[in-house]
Amino acid sequence: MTIEDMLSGFARATLMTSATPTERLDRLSDQLGLDLWIKRDDLTGLSFGGNKTRQLEFYLGEAQQQKADTILITGAVQSNFVRSAAAAAAKLGMDAVLQLEERVPGMGADYYRSGNVLLAGLLGAEHLHYPTGEDEIGADNALHERADQLKAEGRKPYVIHLGIDHPPLGALGYVAAAAELMTQISDFEAAVVPSGSGSTHGGFLAGLRLAGQSAPVYGICVRRDQHQQHVRMQQVLGRLADMLGFDPVLVMDDIQTWDGALAPGYGQIGPATRNALTLMARSEGIFLDPVYSAKTFAGLLGLLEQGVLQQGQKVILLHTGGQPALFGYQDELLSP
Ligand SMILES: *Cc1c(COP(=O)(O)O)cnc(C)c1O
Repeated sequence: MTIEDMLSGFARATLMTSATPTERLDRLSDQLGLDLWIKRDDLTGLSFGGNKTRQLEFYLGEAQQQKADTILITGAVQSNFVRSAAAAAAKLGMDAVLQLEERVPGMGADYYRSGNVLLAGLLGAEHLHYPTGEDEIGADNALHERADQLKAEGRKPYVIHLGIDHPPLGALGYVAAAAELMTQISDFEAAVVPSGSGSTHGGFLAGLRLAGQSAPVYGICVRRDQHQQHVRMQQVLGRLADMLGFDPVLVMDDIQTWDGALAPGYGQIGPATRNALTLMARSEGIFLDPVYSAKTFAGLLGLLEQGVLQQGQKVILLHTGGQPALFGYQDELLSP
């Protein structure tokens, strides 16, 4: 059974119109002594692109199947998922309710006004505010209260669930992404991806193994330390194996999480992140984002420094987008 056959059992909305490019980074390859390639999922198309477009194809597919007229989602103030979900809702003719959580302490005015916040405002969605950021259950409950109100008004709400207690539908998008990558380049020796909710990391790892690619996939922690993230990845992959009907043994021993670039914490820029962001921009003219993709590249550099990645290896870096957040982090990026 092909990967597309496995995915065909799931409702899917079309949000991507073409495959994203995979390019060799010539100057960085020379500088780092690697054969370094980048999968440009910052170019997924919808509303400044990013990895959430692929994930939303499956959430919005289910929403359409249920004849929903309003989608609800919760995330950090500068969440790319929230902005992408509002754009997907607009494209498919649905309303959107966006709940923004206070997840990053000590941020300036741009964080609350520019970047993804500005874009979500232009998309015209209803905004809610949630006062804390590490309360997945509380944030979900608040969203459900709003969904219940909408139901009482005769609307058909669909909540996009990102908590670990729900099936990781978004991971299916990264199973598909891995299959797409394999049609572009298949002989790489390692891949480096971000690991947040785990949908990207989990889907990508499972997709590569289902396609017969056994290269290590390093999940760079962007939110939790590597032990917590490892446990989360076991949960994500267990659920994904159930959903797709493959044996979890195929992937469980292959979970690799690395948190050497996480400091000082979720959504906060440390020296390694800043260095990675400017190195990519100044060597290749490609922008990374401060919350995820610069940390992921910082992770690649850290793994190289530690000898986990070795000189001459053919390595894939997954660029998951997120650049609108650059404009929410102006003070942090410009201060030395
Ligand atoms: C959400 C996000 C991630 C993390 O992806 P998960 O699937 O949640 O692990 C990485 N990069 C960007 C730019 C994102 O917006």
